[in-house]
Parts: sequence; structure tokens; C-alpha cells
Amino acid sequence: MIRGHVSTDAALTDVIPVQGMRSAPHLDFAGEIRAETQVPVFHAARIPDVATARHAIASGKLDMVGMTRAHITEPHIIHKIIAGEEDRIRPCVGANYCLDRIYQGGAALCIHNPATGRELSQPHLIPQADTHKRVLIVGAGPGGLEAARVAAQRGHAVTVHEAAPDPGGQIRLTARSARRREMLSIIDWRMAECDRLGVAFHFNSFADTGTVTDAAPDVAIIATGGLPHTEMLREGNDLVVSAWDILSGDAAPGQNVLIHDEAGDNAALQAAERIAEAGGRVEIMTPDRAFAPEVMGMSLTPYMRALQKLDTTFTVTWRLLGARRDGNELLAEIGSDYGGVTRHRRVDQIVVNYGTRPLDDLYFDLRPVSSNLGEVDYDAFIAGRPQTLARTNPDGAFQLFRIGDAVSSRNTHAAIYDALRLCKVL
Ligand code: SF4
Repeated sequence: MIRGHVSTDAALTDVIPVQGMRSAPHLDFAGEIRAETQVPVFHAARIPDVATARHAIASGKLDMVGMTRAHITEPHIIHKIIAGEEDRIRPCVGANYCLDRIYQGGAALCIHNPATGRELSQPHLIPQADTHKRVLIVGAGPGGLEAARVAAQRGHAVTVHEAAPDPGGQIRLTARSARRREMLSIIDWRMAECDRLGVAFHFNSFADTGTVTDAAPDVAIIATGGLPHTEMLREGNDLVVSAWDILSGDAAPGQNVLIHDEAGDNAALQAAERIAEAGGRVEIMTPDRAFAPEVMGMSLTPYMRALQKLDTTFTVTWRLLGARRDGNELLAEIGSDYGGVTRHRRVDQIVVNYGTRPLDDLYFDLRPVSSNLGEVDYDAFIAGRPQTLARTNPDGAFQLFRIGDAVSSRNTHAAIYDALRLCKVL
């Protein structure tokens, strides 16, 4: 018989007494533990991993732990505990992609497990392939690492080349914000799985056509990502910096900054927070009728809590048109998609968040020597069938594909989903 409330609050301020359960310390409404009160305690929020859950119970703070998002990320969590494979549990990184989607009327998809919620078409467990191949992947961001993990799970011999010294791609920039640091576990978990499966990595390795043809793979997957697109002004493209420049530290934060955000994703808000924390005054401007439409409710709240305490303003329905140098300052010309108006802003830094352009030179260089000329059979891709366009170019030596931002500017979930759909039938 339930006589209390289920706690779903991170402050642990409520209890659920259940007949028949063992007794435990009671948490009162101020969050204080009262050891003398003998009521069982069930808590269900913000316990993301087994170690935390085990500690909460072993130390007597709780009788039972409800873990929701942990099971969304890793439906086999119980199986892996029983099998002694706790270190292989795919970690929930607290990205709230799942909850944000629910609150917008969508399915509870996980940012880095694209099979969750798609069980009728996507596998959680990857079966071995009948024929084992040599697979070469260029790029060790989330898409490239998922491709490596899934291809290796199929039993293929997988090699990854990454130009940077470390894996992670854009996620390394995302994780520079303290609130989003856990995103790095998307990379760390895949690196651990790839290590277990024998994937060979080459870091600081700028792969070119020769790198790929010398390796003589059966399949080459280009997952090189994209670079920030800032060429969007009538004049003054050379005077602006990208949101990534701010996040990476390549550009120091200004004191009086205009951020033009047309991508509407996390990067603009993260850059704004970084600039404002460094003491700068920030105006975030968008031509849309609402700001940051890609940052959904659960994720927007922490940004706003931080930004509104700092010196930031938000301007909607205005568009940055151009930039000119004026003494030590920049003169930003702004207009409106609704027409007939022009304004100017005098600032010392203009930051642009306009999505990415595919880093696809290698893909186009390789197309002529590939067997499928880089083509994807999209009917097969969507239906989950293998890619068999191998006879398009009889002289080609390997199949060639590209995934993630190397195709077009998109998010982490989409890049990982691309990789799973392609490689589960490789
Ligand atoms: S989307 Fe993020 S918060 Fe939700 S289950 Fe996946 S990792 Fe956890």
C-alpha cells in the first residue's frame, strides 16, 4: 500500500512508504535524513549510473532506486550487471534529448542510442556479419566512432584515422561548458567499446586519397564532420568569428558583443555564456520569431538561469546583414526579413552561429576510385538492407560512404543514427 509520494525531485525531499519493504532513514521535507524514523525510501531522479545507485542503497540513504533515463540509454543495464559487464553499460550523459522530445510531442529518443524507441527497425545488439571486411573510417567524432563500434561488432577489421590528437570532434567543444561535461562520455564509452573490439586508431593522421587507397579497404566511411559556416554577410565576413572560435578559445571573448544566431542550437548560447561570464555584454540576435529553437525546454532552462543573471539581451526578428570596421570598433548593419528597416549596432566583436559546412573534400576526391561512386541506395538504407551499389564503377576498389556533418549540418543524434543504419548491415 502506498502512503506517500514518489520522489522525482533531485533534492530527495519526498518519500514513498511501501508496506513490506525494509526500513530506512527518512528524508524529511527539508532534505534532512532522520535515522530514527523507520520508513522505506524510494527515489527516482538524477541517479544516472549503477555506482551511484549502489552507493545510495549500501550507505542506507535509500531502499530502492528508480532509474529511467539510464534504461533509455542502456536497455540491457540489468543484463550487463548480472553478466559482470557493468563497465560496458552505455552511460546516460544527462543531455535530456529524450525529455525535450517528449515535451514537444515526440518519442523519447536517446541522444546516443538511436535504437531506443526504434526497436522495430534498429538493433540494440549487433549481429556478426557472414563475411568479414576491412573497413576504414576517417574521423573520430560521434558518427565515426559509432561506425567503428558497430562495424567492429559485426566482426569487421576496422581502422580509424583522425586528424586531431584526440577523439570527439564537436563534442570536445560542447564539453568545455561545465554543465555539458558529461557529453564526453558519448566518446569515452565508444572508445572503450572500440578498444575491446580491437579497432585500430591513428590520431594526428590527416587522411588523404593515398591513405585510403594504400590501406585497400573494402569499405571507406568518411565521417570528417563540418566546419563553422560564417560566409553569410553582404560585407565583412572576415571581421566575424564563429561560436566555435569562442568555445575553443581561438577567439578571446569581447566586451561588447553581438551574436547572430541562425542555427538556433546550443553553440550560440554556450558562446554567450562564456562571453558574459568573462564580463562581456552580449546581445543574441536571430531573424527567427523565437530564439534557440533547437534548444528545447529542459535544456534551455539552465542557460536562461545563467544568462539572465549576466549582462545578456535577446533580440528576435532582426538579421545581421554586414559588418564594417569603424576605428577600434565594428559597425554591424542589421535588417529584418519583414522588410524596409535598417539599424546599426556599434560593438567590439561579432559572433556568428550559422551551422556547419561539410568537410567533404576527401569524399569527393575518393568518389572516382570507389565502386559505388560514393552513391547511397536510400531505399535500402531506410529499409535496413545492405548497400549493393557495387557495380556502378567496375574499376572501383571499395565502397564509399559519408555520414553525419560530412553530409550536412546536423546534430549528434543524427550522426550516430546515420552510422548505425549504415553499419548494422555492412
Ligand atoms: S537523451 Fe541524454 S538524458 Fe536522455 S537517456 Fe539519452 S543520454 Fe540520458
